[in-house]
Amino acid sequence: MNHILGYHCTLCNAEFPPLPELMTCPHCGETGILDIVYDYGVVKKHFSRERLTGNRDNSMWRYAPLMPLRSPSAGGAEGLSDFLRIGWSPLYKSLRLGERLGLRTLYIKDDGINPTASLKDRASGVAVAKALELGYDTISCSSTGNAASSLAGNAARMGLKTVIFVPQRAPQGKVAQLLIFGANVISVAGDYRQTFELSKAAIEKWGFYNRNAGINPILTEGKKTVALEIAEQLHFAPTDWVAVSVGDGCTIGGVYNGFYDLLQLGMIERIPKILGVQSTGCCPFVDAKGGPLVPTPENTIADSIAVGVPRNPVKAQRAVANSGGTWLAVTDEDILATMRLLGAAEGVFGEPAGVTAAAGVARAIETGIIRSNESVTVISTGSGLKDVANALRAAGEPFLCEPSLEALERSGRVQS
Ligand SMILES: *Cc1c(COP(=O)(O)O)cnc(C)c1O
Ligand SMILES: [Zn+2]
Repeated sequence: MNHILGYHCTLCNAEFPPLPELMTCPHCGETGILDIVYDYGVVKKHFSRERLTGNRDNSMWRYAPLMPLRSPSAGGAEGLSDFLRIGWSPLYKSLRLGERLGLRTLYIKDDGINPTASLKDRASGVAVAKALELGYDTISCSSTGNAASSLAGNAARMGLKTVIFVPQRAPQGKVAQLLIFGANVISVAGDYRQTFELSKAAIEKWGFYNRNAGINPILTEGKKTVALEIAEQLHFAPTDWVAVSVGDGCTIGGVYNGFYDLLQLGMIERIPKILGVQSTGCCPFVDAKGGPLVPTPENTIADSIAVGVPRNPVKAQRAVANSGGTWLAVTDEDILATMRLLGAAEGVFGEPAGVTAAAGVARAIETGIIRSNESVTVISTGSGLKDVANALRAAGEPFLCEPSLEALERSGRVQS
């Protein structure tokens, strides 16, 4: 890995050589999350606008030279073409939603189309590649749902076993995915914090490869590919703002890292302002206002971001602070209304946490944080089919009709 200089602790700034199994800073312990330090001079040999233009790998592996994997080359590291197809998700120019919100330029990055239907596939793909590279046969994580189902699916495809910890309240769609992908599922009778602690103890005891995003520094390096794609899809002139929903903080940290890499490589001129959006029912980052986080209850329908004790606070807060962005909370009612709006106005069906960023953009415009002449990209992080119960809560019941044209006519529901 001669394109990696080493690791850098986000808390104490200590530097470490690139030992592939190093997870967190040995001095700081579990909270000492590491950054991966790239040698951009070496990266440049395999990575440029011209190379990307000629690269026909329409998956996130087109960015392998910017990942902490062993043998990245222009076409991606060896064996990566066997993976499920992760990434290169569509970036839609909004046709109606932007106008409704009073914005001239809005893009929607639909990461719900990934193989297991969320952005988490980007992180799981890198974790599975790393576990294979290091010779593990089992990989494990705890998750509010999507990290789990994406790990189970991507590991199944590549022939790795999985041990997966989810809180009991994880929605059925996500649990069904786990079981279908053949994971060893441990449903924990407790909240996400307790689920995380149990997974940590089990990983230590049995020595599985650790895919916990708040621990393993390579996972943000998978998630950052969403930012690399947004930039490339906009011809390296990204929007003024990028909005993302936040739970543990790894996704938003990854979004920042992706733009940061491109800035270091001279491929973009500035990092977009990053809007971090949470639900008012669980918004430790919004409450912290850039300061220390206080544990909060997890009272939101947006289960993927119901994280009372975020595991990646440093990377998340850095993303917002260094980009000149803002933190913002929206209510669960806003989230449900945005599920309907995004679906009806653009044909994009997001789960509650998936549309939270879009709800945040609406709020940011109302409060003057985003001005109508600014351009915005909103990331839809997961598919609405994962959580049909909440989708129906947002959308209501369909009209029930007797099976006759007369009854249909009488109802007045259909007009020419
Ligand atoms: C995990 C997840 C998020 C938030 O990512 P974090 O890294 O936990 O901040 C947002 N939306 C969806 C759909 C997710 O699955
Ligand atoms: Zn440290």
